[in-house]
Amino acid sequence: MKETGNSIPELYGSLVFNDKVMRERLPKDTYKALRKTIENGTHLELDVANTVAAAMKEWAVEHGATHFTHWFQPMTGFTAEKHDSFISPDKAGQIIMEFSGKELIKGEPDASSFPSGGLRATFEARGYTAWDPTSPAFIKDGSLYIPTAFCSYSGEALDKKTPLLRSMEALNREGVRLLHLLGRKDVRKIDTTVGSEQEYFLVDKDLYKKRKDLLFCGRTLLGAPAPKGQEMEDHYFGVLKPKVASYMHDLDEELWKLGVPAKTKHNEVAPAQHELAPVFDTANVAVDHNQLIMEIMKKVADKHHLACLLHEKPFEGVNGSGKHNNWSIVTDSGENLLDPGKTPAENTQFLLFLLAVIEAVDDYADLMRISVASAGNDHRLGANEAPPAIVSIFLGDELTRVLSSIESGTDFAKEQQTLMEIGAHVLPHFAKDTTDRNRTSPFAFTGNKFEFRMPGSALSVAGPNVILNTAVAESLQNICGKLENIPEENLHDAIQNLLKEMIRRHKRILFNGNGYTDEWIKEAEKRGLYNLKSLPDALPEFISQKNLDLFTKHHIFTKEEIFSRYEILLENYAKTIHIESLTLQDMVRKDFTPALFSYMADIASEALEKKKLLPSLSSSYEEQIIRTLTESSESISVLLEKLCADTKKAEQHQDTLDAARYYHDTILLDMELLRGSVDQAEAIIPGTYLPYPTYDELLFSL
Ligand code: ADP
Ligand code: MG
Repeated sequence: MKETGNSIPELYGSLVFNDKVMRERLPKDTYKALRKTIENGTHLELDVANTVAAAMKEWAVEHGATHFTHWFQPMTGFTAEKHDSFISPDKAGQIIMEFSGKELIKGEPDASSFPSGGLRATFEARGYTAWDPTSPAFIKDGSLYIPTAFCSYSGEALDKKTPLLRSMEALNREGVRLLHLLGRKDVRKIDTTVGSEQEYFLVDKDLYKKRKDLLFCGRTLLGAPAPKGQEMEDHYFGVLKPKVASYMHDLDEELWKLGVPAKTKHNEVAPAQHELAPVFDTANVAVDHNQLIMEIMKKVADKHHLACLLHEKPFEGVNGSGKHNNWSIVTDSGENLLDPGKTPAENTQFLLFLLAVIEAVDDYADLMRISVASAGNDHRLGANEAPPAIVSIFLGDELTRVLSSIESGTDFAKEQQTLMEIGAHVLPHFAKDTTDRNRTSPFAFTGNKFEFRMPGSALSVAGPNVILNTAVAESLQNICGKLENIPEENLHDAIQNLLKEMIRRHKRILFNGNGYTDEWIKEAEKRGLYNLKSLPDALPEFISQKNLDLFTKHHIFTKEEIFSRYEILLENYAKTIHIESLTLQDMVRKDFTPALFSYMADIASEALEKKKLLPSLSSSYEEQIIRTLTESSESISVLLEKLCADTKKAEQHQDTLDAARYYHDTILLDMELLRGSVDQAEAIIPGTYLPYPTYDELLFSL
């Protein structure tokens, strides 16, 4: 580009140790051995690792790197890194630049200060990071970043990558098994593909810095609505403002350099809200890329004198931000297994995989909900801006009719004179985009992939993909179990019967209607679907026997690993709301109340002065303002004290689930009531009295 003099294809991936660089720089044998490890997960010998490390170092140093870091994803949901330089003193008192295979493969960061949910006592500090060769290393800020998995001394996963890799393996195992049963011996491996659309807000940096709530909590805890919100529907896909366009331009370039295929960008529904979507990749790489996207979004914003808000609900009254997780399954030859396809044989295969997904989502809807649970995301789900907390599947009319006809054994689309049967009798072709869109559905089939719309904008998408992969692996295993010993001549009938049975069993999860309505909530209840409204409602399901069985059977989590995650999620929820409560109290006491009193005092003295000058003049307007504000201030005083007292009580809770419930039922409610009174008063007070910017300024600052 302009600054670098490079074309975009040259720029793209220029900071990534990708396949092209590997092929150029590694001896043939080493390259082959490494590819084998990447593709088949085979063990990498130390001499191969040594050669790779030397080439990596040489390449990194040429690109200005002085350090390397094992880059990992602890259970904070963020990324972590510790940098070591390549330098090594030699005998002559000088230095050489060194990087060994051992350093590439294994790191030993102190693990004691990362959340472990009780997996590891503080004195058991040792943790290991292990190189993940399936996600390419890259250079950022003068360091070579090596994607790694992170585990404890005794081998328990302390991160988000390890279970994801395990879940991809489980899905691969069961998917390939089914394909082989269907005669598809050509398939050696399947992978999950993920494309995650990332929503975010941009606000002016100076304004951002003036708000404690944004600084400490990432969301506004008070603030009267601006006169204009999103009701004109003029922001979605609207013309990009110059400041935003220039930000997006730089963001794309930075991401491209890191090999993140940023593809689409546009304004979103709420004022100041935007979206970026990359081209999809294998789940593991896509998750790493999403972490990079979030980080680079913030960094580039800072350079542009902006703040990028990734919180799920930064502003009351306008839409919050989500992260659509597009998910599919692909074979080693690039065949998308969720593509309806054109030939009958593929349709059978497609229907089996489709039903595997349907069964997975129906049987593990609770886990799907849990995989997106956070204090922030709870504000979005079910608030008519994001899918409800009830998990259901949108298939669209055509596929729904296909399934109904299979179930009832009747003809599909009679006008085409095609008998609805699987196998020898041909399924009609169904064009890819026969379905309309349905924005209210949590899990929608969109032509050749599923779009999971519940994840919040700040979430690591590792979690939802672990659940999806594992649950689908489980249903594929069930399917294989039922088809495995059937003689070939009976296979066709067996498949048809199995499909029928599966449709009958799981059709309750299918819903093409409007998920925002109250009728759906009632209907879902009748169908026996989960409606886990908040994180504390949902979390107990995480450790139900059914779910423990699922995870341990497929070796995704040990029992201890599940309990650790359960604890961390609950703790995190309570801590988040605790900080929010303290921040709100602080802002009301120290920022808002002085502004309120100072405005009242000014109005009162102005009225008194006026009376002194011209006693006959009315001061009813002033009196009215003072009366209204006094009413507000009295309720603020009561509600503030209640929040303060309840927060002290919250701190007493020992049990994490009890604490989370208390924060949900009591503290959030206290905060909402207090905010209500503050916002009423704020709507009357001129902005000049407030030490922080209002919604008007924040949402329309660019
Ligand atoms: P929309 O906003 O209409 O949902 P976008 O084009 O913004 O669509 O995003 C769609 C996302 O889905 C992109 O990230 C895209 O790369 C991804 N995607 C497309 N095909 C697949 C697939 N087979 N597997 C996973 N993700 C996919
Ligand atoms: Mg989408």
